[in-house]
Amino acid sequence: MQTRPAFGGNIMARIVTRNHRPQMATVRPRVMQRLESPPEHTAEIVEVPVSFDENSIMTKIIDIARDEAAGQVNLQDAEIIVSGGRGLKKPENFAIIRELADALGGVVGASRPTVDDGWIAPYHQVGQTGSTVQPRLYIACGISGAVQHLAGMSGADCIVAINTDPAAPIFEVAHYGIVGDVFEVVPALTEIAREELGSG
Ligand SMILES: Cc1cc2nc3c(=O)[nH]c(=O)nc-3n(C[C@H](O)[C@H](O)[C@H](O)COP(=O)(O)OP(=O)(O)OC[C@H]3O[C@@H](n4cnc5c(N)ncnc54)[C@H](O)[C@@H]3O)c2cc1C
Repeated sequence: MQTRPAFGGNIMARIVTRNHRPQMATVRPRVMQRLESPPEHTAEIVEVPVSFDENSIMTKIIDIARDEAAGQVNLQDAEIIVSGGRGLKKPENFAIIRELADALGGVVGASRPTVDDGWIAPYHQVGQTGSTVQPRLYIACGISGAVQHLAGMSGADCIVAINTDPAAPIFEVAHYGIVGDVFEVVPALTEIAREELGSG
């Protein structure tokens, strides 16, 4: 049984291929729990010589420009992620998300529209077309809980959702739901985190 996006990513379809073998599937990082590699498992490395004419490659790599900031946000290995969505209303308001993430010792995540609108850099995006994450704590702030967002974070151990709309789908996956305004709830959580953890 394989689960994959279908119809332009609007649904997650379960696919059963009954009649054809062999079958192959690829799995994105962090979709499953990482297990320790048993030491008795070894593999033989076989070097296969390949010869090709460099002139036949039309694409040329001229330069590799690394974004220094990208290396500082490691969503996939983060234990705590505080994510912001369109409920933040404008880019400057990601500041309250950063403050809570800093107070908890976590990193900042984001929903896709905030990335598409240039509020925050793409490497913060969580979801089907962003990173799949599996933190111990995921706090979704002003995020509705679209299926494409859930695809990237529903494996978190503990999900806290803050949303003004009690019918928002994010509450269906949240372990703790706070029906409230992010501009009141998030700074209050930051204050508590700073007091309790002595951070910030
Ligand atoms: C092929 C495809 C791939 C996609 N990939 C991704 C992906 O990787 N990641 C992703 O996130 N999305 C992805 N999307 C987009 C996805 O469908 C949703 O549009 C997106 O997740 C919605 O983002 P949002 O929750 O921030 O915004 P919205 O859906 O607009 O939700 C905003 C929420 O904020 C709440 N809110 C408003 N004001 C406040 C307030 N003051 N306090 C608290 N809550 C408030 C609202 O009640 C609402 O629930 C994809 C879509 C497609 C078609």
